Amino acid sequence: MPTHSQHDWRCTCCGKLLGRIENGRIRILVSRSHPYLVSAPVTSVCRGCGALNELTRLP
Ligand SMILES: [Zn+2]
Repeated sequence: MPTHSQHDWRCTCCGKLLGRIENGRIRILVSRSHPYLVSAPVTSVCRGCGALNELTRLP
């Protein structure tokens, strides 16, 4: 198994990248200078279309 896995978390409505799942944590892309890490479940509002996205468990 790979020691480092990455998955994109994308808006279910428009497909905009919301964050990146890294090693069991979700790195939320609020801005380039202020990323932050959270654990599932997590919700995030899409910056592109305003849709509320929920990630209940990691892929
Ligand atoms: Zn969107």
